[in-house]
Amino acid sequence: MKILVIYTGGTIGMKQNARTGALEPFDFAQIEEEVPELKKFDFVLDTVSFKPIDSAEVTPSFWIQLATTVADNYSDYNGFVILHGTDTMAYSASALSFMLQNLGKPVIFTGSQLPVGMLRTDGKENLISAIETAASQTGGKATVPEVCIYFQNKLLRGNRTTKSSAEHFNAFNSFNYPPLAEAGIYLKFNHQSIMPYPENDNLAVHTSLDTNTAILKIFPGMQPSLFDNILKIQGLRSLIVETFGSGNAPTFPWFIDNIRKITDSGITVLNITQCLRGEVSPEKYITGRQLKEAGVVSGKDITFEAALTKLFYLQGKYSGNENVREELEKAVCGEISSHP
Ligand code: ASP
Repeated sequence: MKILVIYTGGTIGMKQNARTGALEPFDFAQIEEEVPELKKFDFVLDTVSFKPIDSAEVTPSFWIQLATTVADNYSDYNGFVILHGTDTMAYSASALSFMLQNLGKPVIFTGSQLPVGMLRTDGKENLISAIETAASQTGGKATVPEVCIYFQNKLLRGNRTTKSSAEHFNAFNSFNYPPLAEAGIYLKFNHQSIMPYPENDNLAVHTSLDTNTAILKIFPGMQPSLFDNILKIQGLRSLIVETFGSGNAPTFPWFIDNIRKITDSGITVLNITQCLRGEVSPEKYITGRQLKEAGVVSGKDITFEAALTKLFYLQGKYSGNENVREELEKAVCGEISSHP
């Protein structure tokens, strides 16, 4: 058994700057020093360190570096643990779930709310359980052949997860999909919710990401002039509209006319809900139905993080927006529920 830990930074590896008091990323040696338990694993634990960053600095090229690191080491290891800041962990886990196709090994993101050197840190438990999860095998194969987030006793599907607390140890939630495992005295896997082992387990890495996407969060009081700016964006391929409740937006003629102008120009418009739980049901209210009639695609129960990174991935894969829209309706790797 061999597990590779990829260290990228985040609070888990941070230390207080003596002069300013601000937390700054430190190198992996610091973590090894603080967690001597790492030596107790009876398997090989290797480490690759990136230049440690606060995850607010994450970019798509960082995701490409991360996916490539997993791919380059894929045949040598049984599983991967990625130490990452919590702020954008759900974005990175979502992105990697799309970039690593036919995944047959666990890729587990984790981090912490308190640095690993602090007395009350949550970093030790998170790191040790993430490694155990990555090493778990069932019938000679990885128990969890997925990109996941392990945080505070729960293993969650990466592309279903959102950071929901800036202060609690329980920082992440998967509002529309059950946990894949829960850690108590035992690590209890929820086998029926875990992605089946892929029929073709030849890892395919997609490193082409097209980020020509804009976001429009609707709100009472929004002005028509917002659309003037959206329509001026050069090279725009998609617009995510964050709507109310089950996918509802105002029926004001200027609003729907502008949305139609955007879809008519070939730009993909994806409707996702501002709510954390539940889904877009475009048939339910006239305010949702009119968006569907204007050519807007329903994001169903997708998270914002997964919607954004799925668009980057599909736009990188297809030059035509028609293909992007077709694929958006389908689950690529468990990011939307399959009921209609
Ligand atoms: N700002 C930190 C980061 O995302 C927060 C954390 O790791 O919890 O890198």
